[in-house]
Order: sequence, then C-alpha cells, then structure tokens
Amino acid sequence: MSTAFPIPTLRRYQGELLLEGVALSAVAEQFGTPTYVYSRAALSDAFAAYRGALQGRPALVCYAVKANSNLGVLSVFAALGAGFDIVSGGELSRVIAAGGDPGKVVFSGVGKTRAEMRQALEAGIRCFNVESAAEIERLNEVAGQIGKRAPIALRVNPDVDPKTHPYISTGLKSNKFGVAFTEALALYRRAASLPHLRVSGIACHIGSQLLDPAPMAEAAAKVLGLVDKLAAEGIRLDHIDLGGGLGIRYDDETPPSVADYLAPLLKVFEGRSEELCFEPGRSLVGNAGLLLTRVEYLKPGEEKNFAIVDAAMNDLARPALYDAFHEVVAVTERAVAPQRYEIVGPICESGDFLAHDRSLAIAEGDLVALLSAGAYGMTMSSNYNTRGRAAEVIVEGNALHLVRERESIESLYALEQALA
Ligand SMILES: *Cc1c(COP(=O)(O)O)cnc(C)c1O
Repeated sequence: MSTAFPIPTLRRYQGELLLEGVALSAVAEQFGTPTYVYSRAALSDAFAAYRGALQGRPALVCYAVKANSNLGVLSVFAALGAGFDIVSGGELSRVIAAGGDPGKVVFSGVGKTRAEMRQALEAGIRCFNVESAAEIERLNEVAGQIGKRAPIALRVNPDVDPKTHPYISTGLKSNKFGVAFTEALALYRRAASLPHLRVSGIACHIGSQLLDPAPMAEAAAKVLGLVDKLAAEGIRLDHIDLGGGLGIRYDDETPPSVADYLAPLLKVFEGRSEELCFEPGRSLVGNAGLLLTRVEYLKPGEEKNFAIVDAAMNDLARPALYDAFHEVVAVTERAVAPQRYEIVGPICESGDFLAHDRSLAIAEGDLVALLSAGAYGMTMSSNYNTRGRAAEVIVEGNALHLVRERESIESLYALEQALA
C-alpha cells in the first residue's frame, strides 16, 4: 500500500484526518455516521484535468451520472459547464434539477422506454446513444408522435479487450451492449432513411476501471475507420463519443493521468474536426469521496479479529459485489498497537464485509474512513435490513454542506400498507 492517500485533498494534520479544511471527526459529530463525504476541490480538479487535456480541440466531457447522482455533486459539474451521460429518465430529471444543461446530455442504455424517450426529446437532449435495431425503430416512432427529430449516435461494439474485471468490461462481442461492427453500416443506412431521426454521431464504451490507454486507442482507431466508411456513403457524423472508463487508484494500482490516458487516443484524431465526447464517471468522483463510519464493536476471534462498523454492504456494495478494495484509515491516530481486522457491517450475510485483513490501531467508538468511495458507492446503496441510507456531505474549504439527509426509518416504509 502506498503512503499517500488516493484522495488528493485528504491529509493527516496533528493526528486528525482532514478533507480539505474539515476534520472528519467534526463531520461525524454534526451529521452522524455512516456518512459519505465528498471534496468539492477534488471534484473540480478531476474535471479540470479532462478540460486541460482536451484544450484546443472541440470536445465535450459528459459526466456519467450513475457513478454518483447526488444533486450536490451534479451541481458542481453543471457549474463547470459539464455535459452529462445518463442511463435513465430519472437521471435526466436529476441533471435538470441540479441546473445541468439538457442540451449537453447524452442518453446511454440498452433499455430506454417510450416514456424515457419522450421525456428526453421534450427536454432537448444532445444525443441518444442507440444500442439496437429495435431501438432505432422505436425512437423514430416516438419522435414522430411528438413532432420532433431525435439526434442519434449508434453505440458500436469495437470488440477490444479492456483488460478489466469481467463484470465491468462492456466492449467485447459477448456483452449485451452496443451493436456489432459488422451490423453498424446497415443500421446507419436505416437510421439515415428515417424521417424523425438525425444521425449525429457514433459512440462506444469499452469498460470501466481501465488502467492501460492502449485498448481505448485501439477502439478509437476502429471507430474512426467506420466514421470514414460512413462519410464515403454520405453519412457524415459531427461527433465521436468514446465513453468513459478511466480507472483510479484504490490500492496500489498506477492509473495513467487523464492527459497520459488521452494522449494516444487524441493522436488517432489529429487533424479531425469532429467533436470528441467523453463519459467519465469513476475518474471524476471516485477519489473525491470517502465513507465515514464508526466502530461499534471489536470482536476478537480464534482465527480473525472483527471490527464491526455501522456501515455495511447496503451502504457500500463494491467489496461484496466485486471483491473490491477500499483503503481503510483510522480517523484519529491512537497510541495502541495495531491489530489485523476484518472490517464488517451488521447485516445478516457472510458477504457483508467492507475490507479484509487490515492493520488498524482502533478502539470501540473510533471513526474509520473507507477511501475512494465517491463512485458507485451511494448510487449502488440499498435499504437491505431496513437500514436508512447514509447522509451525504460536500466539504468546500472549511465549509460543510449537507447534500443529502440521512434517511429516516419511517420514510423507508412510507409507501407500504399493512393489511387490515
Ligand atoms: C458506466 C458508464 C460510463 C462511466 O464509466 P466509468 O468507468 O465510471 O468512467 C460511461 N459510459 C457508459 C455508457 C457507461 O455505461
């Protein structure tokens, strides 16, 4: 494990853990635990890295909302002029509620409903990333019914191996996403012939937590070949959407910087005038956030010691789901000998673990932080075991903004009815 924290705005000062200028112990005192805590500066800096790397060429960075859809987070990106990549009508509503520009929204996903299509057409989104022949027909029909013309890109499947976890690899032939390269030409011809569609671009997204720039550059070159074939048939595209996927450091990974990640890909597009779109999620928010939790019990065992904390797999599913690693840090330094712990939650499942075999100097009642939890943390949370979802806070310098209240227990069953 590296000594520097993966969250750039997190540091230890006089034995206390600070995110920007705020002591995490003060966050727990004010808002309780478990609580997700995000750093505004880390969010802005991550976005600025994309801006910087793309300077001097037409480009749009569309934040992938599913990574973290809190309105506070979305509003930070909206204020920076970001676009948004959505996968549902619900996410579109969030973007608009947070002050995002619907004209910079791209709509991904294999299962868009008619209602979602209508909603997005009326909002005037930038582009539908269409994923099947059937979706082309349905979108044309829905757009016709309300007298609109739908801008589309076809999401193609470049069939490159992103060398990542099989659950988060999406660009192989065997995935459910996108259309095969071999079918793309015929589908573009069909789309171009329909009166209520406007062929605007092409899209691909090969996977997540990518640590090597090469597969992206390979996909980009393949996509560009198709763009030129289409142009030869008179189907001209105005934008090329290369998806998201850049990885972050959770443990000892060494992901490239945004600039180094994009460089080989930008080389592929040198001298081209199409606008480039990107849909980063994890790399914008993952290392801008942590999950703050309190140790309820220490439970020594014959083979393992357990630290039972008040956060659980319902709050942060990634360890249980992908066996994902999150660094665990004691919030206040303590002069006791460190011991090795399994960090587990109170849920009645053996899979309810947050981290394995971590050396920590902690006592009952202490706070610990699970780092790199800004992406796919809160958005994948549930109410399993009738646990209210965590609060969410954004720190900004010395200021604390509560951006989501802790869920009350009554709210969890407010929509339910007991039988008489
Ligand atoms: C999930 C997803 C993204 C974001 O991926 P990250 O790995 O979080 O950057 C972008 N585009 C599409 C289509 C997605 O499904």
